Amino acid sequence: MKKMIALSFTLILLISCSTVPITNRKRINIVSDKEILPASFAQYETFLKENKLSTNVKKTQEIKEVGMKISKAVDRFMRANGMVKEADSYRWEFNLIEDKMVNAWCLPGGKVVFYTGILPICKNMDGIAGVMGHEVAHAFAKHGQERMTTAYGQQLGGIAVAIGTSSESSQTQMIWNTIYGVGSQVGMLAYSRTHETEADKLGMVFMIMAGYNPEEAINVWVRMSEISGKNSPPEFLSTHPSNETRIKNLRAYLPEAKAHAEKFNREITD
Ligand SMILES: [Zn+2]
Repeated sequence: MKKMIALSFTLILLISCSTVPITNRKRINIVSDKEILPASFAQYETFLKENKLSTNVKKTQEIKEVGMKISKAVDRFMRANGMVKEADSYRWEFNLIEDKMVNAWCLPGGKVVFYTGILPICKNMDGIAGVMGHEVAHAFAKHGQERMTTAYGQQLGGIAVAIGTSSESSQTQMIWNTIYGVGSQVGMLAYSRTHETEADKLGMVFMIMAGYNPEEAINVWVRMSEISGKNSPPEFLSTHPSNETRIKNLRAYLPEAKAHAEKFNREITD
């Protein structure tokens, strides 16, 4: 019996093994879009109801504009690379909430939130694009679903399943906070360093595809380290890889990101 369980588990893992496009990293994801997306969209709705949307029309418009441009680039990439069904499943949405925390996140299926506290670090549209590219990349690479898969493995299965059925209970809320970083206290803690580095790389490719200046993605992290020198590190910072490593990696990846973006944009227009 135990052997059977082990065997079927191995089978599931084999079937669920796939590769992240562009970075070619192997991943295991047993969470289907059908399970996760309705719950994700419901969580997003709840979050927006319980938090204050920014009344700054100009800033809100900037977030939405950058979000639309970058998600369109991602959408074009998916449709040109045999991912039409996936492209159809995303419901891109971008909102700015009034909160001084330095934070931004994206739920599965493309639901993005920026906090007003991160805007001075973004500084300009290209800077917003740097953070936006990173967040959109988390959704594109399905990092949340991978986290959820790990949670299944860690015997959180019962609770994880409940996510698909209820969006209200405090236990469900806690799991969402842990896995997806919804809510102010958890911030970006949810993602591993591998996911962060991957989101940095993919984000850079997507922001270039959308016509933004990728140097600003690097400058965002320079500004982030400057503010962290003065004050206690903000949530976004304390849970992400060290800035120095990140800036170094982004600089090193820039030529490759440019080459990818040019190639993909060429393929799409051909
Ligand atoms: Zn991240």
